[in-house]
Amino acid sequence: MMREARILQELPRRLRAWYRRARRDLPWRRTRDPYRIWLAETMLQQTRVAAVVPYYERFLARFPTLAALAAAPVDEVLKLWAGLGYYARARNFHAAAQEVMARHSGRVPKRLDALLALPGVGRYTAGAIRSIGFNLPAPVLDGNVARILARLFAIHQDVKAAETQKRLWGLAEALVPPRHARDFNQAMMELGAVVCVPRSPACGECPVADLCEARRLGEQRRLPRKPKRKAVPHYDVGLGVVWRRGRVLIARRHDNALLGGLWEFPGGKREGEEPLAETVRREVKEEAGLDVAVAEHLMTYGHAYSHFRVTLHVFACRSTRGRPRPLGCAACRWVRVDELGDYAFPAGSRKIIQALREGAR
Ligand code: SF4
Repeated sequence: MMREARILQELPRRLRAWYRRARRDLPWRRTRDPYRIWLAETMLQQTRVAAVVPYYERFLARFPTLAALAAAPVDEVLKLWAGLGYYARARNFHAAAQEVMARHSGRVPKRLDALLALPGVGRYTAGAIRSIGFNLPAPVLDGNVARILARLFAIHQDVKAAETQKRLWGLAEALVPPRHARDFNQAMMELGAVVCVPRSPACGECPVADLCEARRLGEQRRLPRKPKRKAVPHYDVGLGVVWRRGRVLIARRHDNALLGGLWEFPGGKREGEEPLAETVRREVKEEAGLDVAVAEHLMTYGHAYSHFRVTLHVFACRSTRGRPRPLGCAACRWVRVDELGDYAFPAGSRKIIQALREGAR
């Protein structure tokens, strides 16, 4: 208990002093605009800093204000997000901007309950907006902060378990200095990103190493405890590049599906041992109501999503009968290859688009 009290007392001041010296210059650290902070925090969820920077800058060049974002069609927002993954983040952020315009006169709210009522805003994002955007004494707890706390306080329980989460939120709250939440929370995030990293924490460079209980016990690499990983499922997917009169068929995914709102080449999972060409023929029929003749195999490649992996088998097809109808998708349409860039596709479709631009038929 003595040690815990010492950490709570000394850590905030020492970590802030370190942050002032060591912080990286990142685009979202040059602003206090809560809209921009919110965008950065949303993009950074599950995504590396280096990947986020160009997306963040492009996004703000097109939507410099929350009002500009709210006024744009969601397709344009998804197009700017294409390749960053977790597209529900983009749809929620756009919907939340529209709610802020409608309910809060276009000003990002400060109150926790008002923030939590917005689509896609959970306790972490609300805490980040309140502390970094408004310098209010609000805690944040994400994977990085949970890892640091588990090490500092030598917490051996599973950090994802409800009881442990409660304890971690309590510690995060107790640590936030009332007048310096902005710097302190960013300092914690920075420590987790560059020093107290998941596999090999750089304890020799850590500004609070002498406070750290895991280091004292030699357990820093073993904490936080990781629950056993489940095997990642794998699926074979057949996709059709369906041609008619020099145009290809694309389909828009339903908003509530994985990659919701994005466009793709029609196709789906192989059933049992069916031939992949049959998968494509069946899936195009189910998705777009179209009869096709599968002409030739174009390419096969792998792609990993957060919870599963796929092998994509792509076939060129000709449409033989029928008009496309959105039976298993939100919309479908014929487009020229040079128009594909006008639509938001997920990263998994890039290889196909590239091949089509290079002349594949
Ligand atoms: Fe993390 Fe090591 Fe610092 Fe402890 S001493 S907080 S394990 S970097």
